[in-house]
Amino acid sequence: MAPSKKQKNVVKKRSYTAGRVVRQSPVDPEPNRLVKVWRRVLERRLRTRLRAKVAVEIHDNTHTMLTFQRQRALWRLRLHHMFLAAPDEVLQALASFVRKGDPDASALLDKYIERNRVFIRRLSPAQMRRRIRLEPVGQHHDLLRIYERLNERYFQSRIDAAITFGPAPRVKQPRKSIKMGSYSADSKVIRIHPALDQPVVPRYFVEWIVFHEMLHHVYRARRGEDGRRCIHPPALMAHEKRFHDYSRALAWEKENLDLLLCAGMSPA
Ligand SMILES: [Zn+2]
Repeated sequence: MAPSKKQKNVVKKRSYTAGRVVRQSPVDPEPNRLVKVWRRVLERRLRTRLRAKVAVEIHDNTHTMLTFQRQRALWRLRLHHMFLAAPDEVLQALASFVRKGDPDASALLDKYIERNRVFIRRLSPAQMRRRIRLEPVGQHHDLLRIYERLNERYFQSRIDAAITFGPAPRVKQPRKSIKMGSYSADSKVIRIHPALDQPVVPRYFVEWIVFHEMLHHVYRARRGEDGRRCIHPPALMAHEKRFHDYSRALAWEKENLDLLLCAGMSPA
């Protein structure tokens, strides 16, 4: 005798008990199966809108979010996984964009992609670094050497970052302020302003700037009690004072800031 509907439900329900979940293998096959189910749902939703057969492939690309091609009666779409749960209006736009390259639909898709940016996988620091041209050796200061020595002296060579001079900006008027260094936590790259690559800028001053940026690698920005992002937590500021030429560097900066603000100005 075929089991009644009621019995079926009971069996189904039992599969949700905690005991069974615990006994499952540590590698959970569920996410992949879910993607397959959602992909099939998406194909069905698109099929009704494109009035044709649709084959969807889901990817995790970082740049191209959607591509499509027509193969006889079949539409082949390659879509980022953010489209798996896209609302109807987005799928409608996707269909009009695929069918006739509708610019309004394209704008709507752009907005959707922008809103879902958090789901786009970020590149690893190493991948990002490969895209950056590193130029650590200036005409007067060798940042790599400075960085390596500081790393040895203060951090047991544990800091794993890259360093480079930033691009040289052309300026016509003295700057109002200058960002002498920066640290990108995403790529783990320290950038030093090229204005520091002058014979008049003492080595200990460049060292101090590099040291400060290395501390940004150690102390990540965090939200303070007031909810604001604090990029210079007290621990970083205290650590900075351990730099061997701290007061000399501070004094030099006070004396010579104008020199740095005018660096790179084309001669009048
Ligand atoms: Zn800083």
